[in-house]
Amino acid sequence: MKLSKITLTVLLLIAFQYASAWGFYTHRAINYQAVFLLPPGMMTFYKQHIEFLSEHAVDPDKRRYIVTGEGPRHFIDLDQYGDYPFEDLPQSWNGAVKKYGEDHLQSHGIVPWWIQIMHQRLTKAFHEKNFAAILKLSAELGHYVADAHVPLHAHSNYNGQQTGQQGIHAFWESRVPELLAGKEFDYFIGKAVYISKPATFVRERILESFLAADTVLQTEKQLSREFPPDQKYAYEERNGSVIRQYASSFTIAFNQRLQGMVERRMRQSIFGIASFWYTAWLNAGQPSLQSPSEVTFSPADLKDFEELNLLWKSGASKGRSCEN
Ligand SMILES: [Zn+2]
Repeated sequence: MKLSKITLTVLLLIAFQYASAWGFYTHRAINYQAVFLLPPGMMTFYKQHIEFLSEHAVDPDKRRYIVTGEGPRHFIDLDQYGDYPFEDLPQSWNGAVKKYGEDHLQSHGIVPWWIQIMHQRLTKAFHEKNFAAILKLSAELGHYVADAHVPLHAHSNYNGQQTGQQGIHAFWESRVPELLAGKEFDYFIGKAVYISKPATFVRERILESFLAADTVLQTEKQLSREFPPDQKYAYEERNGSVIRQYASSFTIAFNQRLQGMVERRMRQSIFGIASFWYTAWLNAGQPSLQSPSEVTFSPADLKDFEELNLLWKSGASKGRSCEN
C-alpha cells in the first residue's frame, strides 16, 4: 500500500506533536520569559525574535536523538565526584580532564563546562554582529542554563531508577509546570545582571540542584506512601490526548509539599539565562542590535533545523534519555 502525501503529512504531524509534547513546554516558556529581563538595548531585538528563541529552546534536546556527543551536555552526576560541595572537582575543563580523564567526564555529564563554551560562542557572535548566530546560540544557551537548574540533572539517580521511582524526572520538570506554570507561577523577576564569574555562577546553580534532588526524591517517596495507591495515577488529558499519568491531585500535592521549588527553579533559570545573554553582550562591547527586520539563516543552518525536526524522533536517544 502506498501512503498518499496527505496521509503521510498527517502522520508526521501527529508523530511530531506527540514527540514535541514531552517536556518542551517548560524550555520554551523559560526562554520566552527571559527576554523580558533584558535592558532596552537588547530587548527590542530579542522581542522581535521571541518566537524563534522559544521554538529553538528545544533544539539541544532534539539533537540528542541525532548526535552522539549531545547527551552529556545536559547534565552532571555530581555524586560521582565525592561529597557535597565537591571541592575536588576542578572548575576548569582542562583541570577536570587532567584529574578524571575526558571519558569519565563525558559519561557523567558536562553541563557546567558546556554552558561556558556556549557563552563564549555567543560573545563572539555579538562581537561579529552575526545576528543569525546570536539567535541560535541564545536559544541553545538558554536550554543548557535551564537544564543546570533542574535538580535531577545533577544526580545519577536522575529518573529515580535507583530507588524505584521511575518517571520522577518528567514528573518534576514536565507534569508539574504543564499543570501549574501557566496558571499559578509568577514571572515578575526583575532585571538581568552582569555575571562576573560564569564558572562560579554555574557551579552554585548545580550545587543547589544537587541538594534539591534529594528533596525531590524524598518528597515523592513520602507522598506516595501517604497517597491512596489507586489515586496516584489517572487517565487525564495532555495536549489533546487522554493518557495515564501522575494524577492532578497527586501533582498538586507534590508541588505544595515542595514549597514552590519548581516555580523557584523556573524563575532562577529565567534570571540565569537573561543574565548570561546580557553578560555576553556587555563583554562584546554592547554592540548595537539594530538588525534588518528579517534575519537570514545560512543554508547550513536551515538544513540543520530541518534535520532536527525530521530525525530527532526517528531513532532512539543516543545516550541518557530524559524528557526535559
Ligand atoms: Zn536538555
